[in-house]
Amino acid sequence: MNLTRDKHNQPRCELLAPAGSLEKLRTVIHYGADAVYLGGREFSLRAHATNFSEDDLRQAVDFAHSRQVRVFVTVNIFAHNRDLVRLPAYLGRLAEIGVDGLIISDPGVLRLAKEVAPALSIHLSTQANVTNVASAIFWQEQGVSRLNLARELTLAEIREIREALAAKIEVFVHGALCISYSGRCLLSLYLTGRDANLGNCAHPCRYDYRLQEEKRPGQFFPVEEDGRGTYIFNSKDLCLIKRLPELVAAGVDSIKIEGRMKGIYYAGGIVRIYRAALDHVYRCLEDAPGAPLIIPPVFMEEIAKLGTRGYTENFFDGAPREDDMCYTGAVVDQTYVPAGIVLEAGSRPLVEVRNRIRPGERLEYMAEGVNNVPFAVLAVTTPDGRPLPQANSGSKVLLATSPEIPWQAYGLLRRIRTGAGGNGAGNE
Ligand code: SF4
Repeated sequence: MNLTRDKHNQPRCELLAPAGSLEKLRTVIHYGADAVYLGGREFSLRAHATNFSEDDLRQAVDFAHSRQVRVFVTVNIFAHNRDLVRLPAYLGRLAEIGVDGLIISDPGVLRLAKEVAPALSIHLSTQANVTNVASAIFWQEQGVSRLNLARELTLAEIREIREALAAKIEVFVHGALCISYSGRCLLSLYLTGRDANLGNCAHPCRYDYRLQEEKRPGQFFPVEEDGRGTYIFNSKDLCLIKRLPELVAAGVDSIKIEGRMKGIYYAGGIVRIYRAALDHVYRCLEDAPGAPLIIPPVFMEEIAKLGTRGYTENFFDGAPREDDMCYTGAVVDQTYVPAGIVLEAGSRPLVEVRNRIRPGERLEYMAEGVNNVPFAVLAVTTPDGRPLPQANSGSKVLLATSPEIPWQAYGLLRRIRTGAGGNGAGNE
């Protein structure tokens, strides 16, 4: 299947994936991203992501372009005057490295980018909060070639903006949500001194809040009826996978997945599922145009294996309601945990271990689509062939397996989780 054009040679909707590190970039590209977004060490939100040095950026662009994948770089801080001193040179270096576009939210940064790197396409960050047609046209007139719309829009509003614009539009379809307008939030700065608008959010919207009366210090009253307190600002995570047919029909140019700070298992796993779901949509449209189109339950079942705070479709059909929030702070456990990543394919793959692997246990290989291939580990050896009773996290080992599998570099191995706990989705 051609991933960039449909059978009428029209561009297909792009799958845009987060790449918080070189390793994550390789993983999400392996699992089918058409484009990735990432941040340099400066001027990017997500200060805690393992952001890219300029040397990393060159490697990222080389790797992505060798696989026909586009690289967009976030320069989406709300800049202060002091930031403007080094910004022009940085933008110039991004152009020289050959990135495919800049993701910007600040009009001043946009102006500088047009001066310094006029050949680079400019994408508007979701932090610019485009919620209406007039605003979208304004940004288009400023030279923006693609707009990531605010997450607070209904499908009908997305459709209206799409119809009014020549520029491309991008829509977030999956990941953590801010309780504020897409990160334009002072909560973290106020409570922890860490500024969300400079990429340093401490995620206090996930904290457990209680009420304290000033004359009774140390006595904490629940804000809600739940005895555990109330996570009053804690939204469930966005998931629009069931709505992909409508997004494609609306002419959305790119669907974007949140999560530069997530691990490779989550990022690779989610990208893999959305790749498969998007391909399913186009296959149905090509094979049976006009037929009712649904996303089979297997896609949601796969998503559930990756862990979540619960899912919401947010504003897609109108304002969110009470059950779109996660008032208990509860996290749905991952039912699987990562075990390793294939570094080199072969009859005995070279694997970097993420969770101890032992001979005799059963694991699962996350192949393309939603194909999971169970296998038994027959032997674990060092790269020079010395047998090991177990391989610990971080080690690189060869695996003998039954059956042998057509491994691919950057594919992930996982095991069924035993016991409770688990990682929920973090924030963008
Ligand atoms: S994650 Fe929470 S605290 Fe951080 S910017 Fe978003 S709403 Fe604010």
